[in-house]
Amino acid sequence: MMKLLRKAIGAIKSPKPAQTTILRTSEIVLDGITVTVLRKKIKTLRLTVYPPDGEVKLSAPARASEATIKAMIASRKDWILAQQAKILARARVPNYAYVDGERHYFEGCELPLTILPAPYAARPNLARVEIVPRERINLHIHPDSSAEQRQMALAAAYRRHMKARVPDLIAHWEPTMGVQVADWGIKQMRSKWGTCNTQARRIWLNLELMKKPPECLEFVLVHEMVHLLERGHNARFYGWMDRFMPQWRQYQAMLNARPMGMG
Ligand SMILES: [Zn+2]
Repeated sequence: MMKLLRKAIGAIKSPKPAQTTILRTSEIVLDGITVTVLRKKIKTLRLTVYPPDGEVKLSAPARASEATIKAMIASRKDWILAQQAKILARARVPNYAYVDGERHYFEGCELPLTILPAPYAARPNLARVEIVPRERINLHIHPDSSAEQRQMALAAAYRRHMKARVPDLIAHWEPTMGVQVADWGIKQMRSKWGTCNTQARRIWLNLELMKKPPECLEFVLVHEMVHLLERGHNARFYGWMDRFMPQWRQYQAMLNARPMGMG
């Protein structure tokens, strides 16, 4: 799977350092903050807040008492809240109004949206979207349509463009990599660019990828297809990536250049 930001950034530093084995996992809720406690063979407590949702994890020595852990969380409460606020502000999807002249990302370019009155005025749910790559997006829709209806019309158009592109990419990469994708689909995901169920050989791709440069969609697809050769993100996995797509790090940087939903 191709996780947003955190995992992807970690992946740049491949091969990854060996992770300390997690002995036990539990959950503590303190003052409304949910903390996942990971018991490890370590000597000190370590608190981390992760994107994209501000998840809080505390790595603790196997024998640290619950009181010690709670005291640590309580003493760092303000810091945790500040980190969460920072992460959420960065990850927030812009609140589009879907009005004339607003700019929307498509294939890495910011294109102006033009709202054109649809001839079938009585049916606000009927819309037609024309995307002229690198130029503009024309949305033919009822003038009284809601932002939600316009958003759905655009999402459907992005989905159509993605559906038109992916089969050719899979057909290109399958023989090159010697793997077979049994099924693939598109999902709107908040924290992952793609996932691969290696047993079912099914790949899910995030619809948000249509906002990124075309290379990003291909990179995520190749990443997920490499999982059909190697499940983990290990040296063998990155060896395949380097072999099939030597420039993948550059695409990964493009993918993470802006927060989710910002491009
Ligand atoms: Zn992966």
